[in-house]
Amino acid sequence: MPIVTTPCLVLQTYRFGDTSKILRLLTRDHGPVSALARGALRPRSRMSGVLEPFVEGVVTLYLRSNRDLHTLSGFDLVRSRQALGSDMARFAGASVLAELVLRLAPSERDDLLYENLREGLDALLSASPDMAPGVAAARIWKLVGVLGFEPSLEHCLSCGRPVQPGEGARFDTHEGGIRCLQCSATGHALDPSGLQTLKELVANRVPSHLSGPQILVLKEFIRVHIAEDIRIRSLDFLTAADD
Ligand SMILES: [Zn+2]
Repeated sequence: MPIVTTPCLVLQTYRFGDTSKILRLLTRDHGPVSALARGALRPRSRMSGVLEPFVEGVVTLYLRSNRDLHTLSGFDLVRSRQALGSDMARFAGASVLAELVLRLAPSERDDLLYENLREGLDALLSASPDMAPGVAAARIWKLVGVLGFEPSLEHCLSCGRPVQPGEGARFDTHEGGIRCLQCSATGHALDPSGLQTLKELVANRVPSHLSGPQILVLKEFIRVHIAEDIRIRSLDFLTAADD
């Protein structure tokens, strides 16, 4: 059983028996890993209260070959990010980022993905409550792009011409792009400022104002391209936070 030590981000945790926890981690060096933390729920455990979602640390693992569940033997806390829980939009945004990585992360090391998740969690942590929904939407779009699903927002999918600033468009969720108003009367209507805001979000810029339609486009896009079968519930909270 090789022992490895690697930086990691905790994506999800759940109870296992009376005193242990199973962790879903994104490790920097080995990609996604599930690990059993024996005794982590014992009150006197050094890991008690530490192994929670969004925590960053350096984990030591016994990697078992041909097994999906490895054994955690040590964890040094780097950053707890506890304050993510203090605001609904921050928490919902962080939860969506973690869920997307849980579902879609490649099985090998991916430095770009790791850095994006880490930076996204930090951006949410430092976002003021009024900016948190915008930061969350921008970081989710960014991660969606890193995972290979970036939508096309510059040219009309049908006629190919560039959609100019000041023009509205229709967003085709299934095709993952826009059509000019001459070519399409269906899909999400985006007025010029709505299209501009969507472009800013996809480029990971936080817009000054975020409205319902952008969140709706994001939600549908994720549902169609990424999580067809399962609803990412945290997205509903993000919509609610915007109301
Ligand atoms: Zn067109």
